[in-house]
Amino acid sequence: MNKFIDFRSDTVTQPTDDMRKAMFEAEVGDDVYGDDPTVNKFEKIAAEILGKEAALLVPSGTFGNQLAIFTHCKRGNEVILGEDCHIIQHEVGAAAVISGVQLRPIQSSKGEMNPLHIKERIRREEDDIHYPSTGLICLENAHSNGRVISLENMKEIYKVGKEKNVPVHLDGARLFNAAAYLNKDVKELTQFCDTVNVCISKGLCAPIGSVLAGDRKFIERAKKARKLLGGGLRQAGFIAAAGILALTDMAERIGEDHETALYLAKRLEEFKNIEVLHDSIHINMVFFKLNEFDSIKLMEELLKHNIKINPAEEGLMRFVTSYWTSKEDIDRLISKMKEIME
Ligand SMILES: *Cc1c(COP(=O)(O)O)cnc(C)c1O
Repeated sequence: MNKFIDFRSDTVTQPTDDMRKAMFEAEVGDDVYGDDPTVNKFEKIAAEILGKEAALLVPSGTFGNQLAIFTHCKRGNEVILGEDCHIIQHEVGAAAVISGVQLRPIQSSKGEMNPLHIKERIRREEDDIHYPSTGLICLENAHSNGRVISLENMKEIYKVGKEKNVPVHLDGARLFNAAAYLNKDVKELTQFCDTVNVCISKGLCAPIGSVLAGDRKFIERAKKARKLLGGGLRQAGFIAAAGILALTDMAERIGEDHETALYLAKRLEEFKNIEVLHDSIHINMVFFKLNEFDSIKLMEELLKHNIKINPAEEGLMRFVTSYWTSKEDIDRLISKMKEIME
């Protein structure tokens, strides 16, 4: 039987051989005491790469975003963010539970928000007895819809935040994908946010973790809040060791996954009942409509051949490429799909 190939997400990525070796050999200590040399090294490297004063290793992307909200905001604050962002769609309503904030979703046009819409909605509790204060603006880049937000849009929103004295948090789960698409250094993106959260366990292949970066004072407060939320880890250097390679070697090559995605999109064009959403392919995700064929049936049939996909979500299929996806894997997927569908 063929090996498993998996197009469901880039979260399924296994660590590389280099990562396994680095984890095995990692020098570790109790990070709650600040004694883990590998965590300290990881956080220093992360801060440098992300262009911020300090950084903090956290257990997951959701943890990093929620920790940012918790640290930036007071209970009863309002957070302005796009209606289709991950924090609203896929974080279990955590901002209400953990931070007691009100999320104020605004219209998103393919992931981009209109800076004027944001400006109009910023409120201060001193101005009216009915008002909460806006505590935070959240951006997402790359967006989970597969598209990359322009630098111009980020810049304008950040300017609004600065003018109104409201901090901006960037959910950069796939920040390196966004930077590769824009052909820019990640610092050119992170200059337009106060804090940023990056997942190391998606396309960057580390097994666990995210990193939250910001200025030193913010990260000090976030560190205390991370402990409160149960995210103070002990010998976390085993994770950080893989994380260092994620942020360096793996981040450098992430653009290759975008080329693989374009190849996959091209091959999907061969099906007359598939409609590829070409303008949504910016990173390692291919979105398409599967017409006149049941996506659950396709999923079940492919699984018999050790190929994993997700069924359609809200009428859209999504295939994701990663470090572990080869051209041969895609050819195998396409030929199996032809057998099943034709
Ligand atoms: C995956 C993801 C997250 C959350 O990461 P988890 O590690 O799954 O908690 C946050 N934001 C975006 C845009 C993501 O894609």
